[in-house]
Amino acid sequence: MKSATGLLIGAGALLSASCVNGLAEEVFAAIDKQDDGLRTVNKEIWENPELAYKEVHAHKTLTDFLEDQGFNVTRGAYNISTAFRAEYVSGKGRAVSFNSEFDALPGIGHACGHNLIATVGVAAAIGVKEALKNQGVSGRVVLIGTPAEESMGGKVRLLEAGAYDDLDCSLMAHPGNSLYASYGRTLASWRANVTWSGEASHAAAAPWMGRNALDGFVSAYSSTGLYRQQLMATDRIHHVIQGTSEMVANIIPDFVNSVWGVRGKSRPRAEQVREQLFRILYASSNATNTSIEITPFQDYWDQNPSFQLASAYYELQKEYLDPSKDTETANFTITAPEDDDGEASASSDQGNVSWFLPSIQVIFPVGGTAPVHNAGFRELAGTDFAHEQAIKTAKALALTGIQVLQNETFAEAVWGEWEAMIAEISVGLKEDNGNSTKRSVRKRHVH
Ligand SMILES: [Zn+2]
Ligand SMILES: [Zn+2]
Repeated sequence: MKSATGLLIGAGALLSASCVNGLAEEVFAAIDKQDDGLRTVNKEIWENPELAYKEVHAHKTLTDFLEDQGFNVTRGAYNISTAFRAEYVSGKGRAVSFNSEFDALPGIGHACGHNLIATVGVAAAIGVKEALKNQGVSGRVVLIGTPAEESMGGKVRLLEAGAYDDLDCSLMAHPGNSLYASYGRTLASWRANVTWSGEASHAAAAPWMGRNALDGFVSAYSSTGLYRQQLMATDRIHHVIQGTSEMVANIIPDFVNSVWGVRGKSRPRAEQVREQLFRILYASSNATNTSIEITPFQDYWDQNPSFQLASAYYELQKEYLDPSKDTETANFTITAPEDDDGEASASSDQGNVSWFLPSIQVIFPVGGTAPVHNAGFRELAGTDFAHEQAIKTAKALALTGIQVLQNETFAEAVWGEWEAMIAEISVGLKEDNGNSTKRSVRKRHVH
């Protein structure tokens, strides 16, 4: 069997779901028992959308609930005021972790459904805690509250602060419309503020005295348009100008602020596109005699999921929660990891996590056709159906985590595959590039 990166996967390492037999019922019951509370958490976050690093209400709602559930909770963890860590330990063993995102989008609230991601993380952690507390499984479950996914990269800061250093896997989920998938890939994404500064002057009386910052932006915008012919289908360049009411037609604009984004299917490819974008930007500054300032604020790496974890999740979902056997979800698409086309869409700071330890970000449906980052999707993310799908997803993720805790052979196979994958995808990557290389030289956690 081959993973999407071409690595050979030992068939013996893939487990049947049998090793969690006898536990699944108790794990599911423990999650169901808390459903009223989980619904309240979900609703509170959905009804009170908050932006990056300002998720105060979500942070309080989640940490209060987790403390009530018997987790050891650190609020404002790793010097990030809206991050948290909730942990439950029983004896010695491996550590499984889940991520709860909870940030919203400007103007359109929870149109990415992060209220559901938060709910999945909490429910899955409750499920694993049941196995640790009452079912004789040993090890740790850690739920990390990860703020600011949409633009500011909360997980990048958490990685740098060591939040993932002592963990054996990172499991999470993201909602979509009508697809169940466990092997989701994402694009590498880099973003920066770019400003051009020139000299103001009367646009009719003395235009020759001015240096036009808007021309700097337009020059770069046009050159990017020419460059598009050389882009690959998986590359993206997108940009917006952030004008002000102070920009008027009879003053030569002396300042322009803008945001530029570059994406590619891998870190090396995104670096190539970014290098050409830098040539374009500096050329625009020269051509218009304006000064340019480039301030990067996002560096999300491509997400490379664990084929082993994705396969375990898929098998467990099929055995215990098969969506094709439920009339409400029978028409949705279910993609097995080995049938995944390997195509990436969108980007996430979970990509950076995937370069640091074995991980998956599974996709579950909320129905409808409104795409993510659309107000229609916000409505879909707030329905009872979406909540029920989140809970089913959490159950299968909890069982996946329990396999990592219970089964040494499986856990070894997950790490072995991940180490080989990182070695393969690091080829052609420039060292450092202003980022910490620490995150791509992670060694397996020693117990
Ligand atoms: Zn989003
Ligand atoms: Zn999202």
